[in-house]
Amino acid sequence: MGNGARAQQKRERNAKSNASKDPKSQLKTNEAAKNVVCQVCRQTFLLTVREPALLQHAENKHSKVR
Ligand SMILES: [Zn+2]
Repeated sequence: MGNGARAQQKRERNAKSNASKDPKSQLKTNEAAKNVVCQVCRQTFLLTVREPALLQHAENKHSKVR
């Protein structure tokens, strides 16, 4: 089982080098994916949303506001 100890060490090393990224990176990814926010109703859109979809949202929901 000497291998196990070695693997454990490797894992700890990886954990250390990833520590700065790992836990938050997923959150950041999730947030980044939704960083298009309607300023009127705060609805979030995926970053990949297309402009027509945003315009459509604005027209459907806030045509009077603007
Ligand atoms: Zn809106």
